[in-house]
Amino acid sequence: MMLRAPSSSTSTSTSSCIFCQIARSSTSSILLHSDGKVVAFQDINPSAFRHYLVIPIEHIPTVENLQRRAEDYALVSHMLDVGQTLLLKDAPNSKYSRFGFHQPPFNSVDHLHLHCLALPFIPSWKSVKYTSLGPLGGFIEAEKLLEKIKPSSPLPSIM
Ligand SMILES: [Zn+2]
Ligand SMILES: [Zn+2]
Repeated sequence: MMLRAPSSSTSTSTSSCIFCQIARSSTSSILLHSDGKVVAFQDINPSAFRHYLVIPIEHIPTVENLQRRAEDYALVSHMLDVGQTLLLKDAPNSKYSRFGFHQPPFNSVDHLHLHCLALPFIPSWKSVKYTSLGPLGGFIEAEKLLEKIKPSSPLPSIM
């Protein structure tokens, strides 16, 4: 189980958070995938041939709340896995796909969400939104984020 100590910042925003509501299936959004940890659904405002979002059920605001530790690494790997599986199934002929996150202040909703895009971008200028701005932040590819939070040493076996 992945439990986080409740903090005032997360508990206040959870009830009004649209992605938390989707994760709890209290909206009419159709879930493309759901399991104990994540759900996936179509982006309301698609920017590409296929554009899905994968979110953790738990309210984690942004990539900045992720740390270099096994549970966060496992969560992001799982999100990427779910996204890749969905695109493979729904857009098997799409040659290019992109998976990543917007880093604050470029994120739209303060609930961690992985953008899964099967290209082409529609319209094509939308690609700007999903481009890394290097040191300025912007979009971070899921693989890059995984490198950043990969635990450097194995977990201690004794608590
Ligand atoms: Zn939320
Ligand atoms: Zn976003």
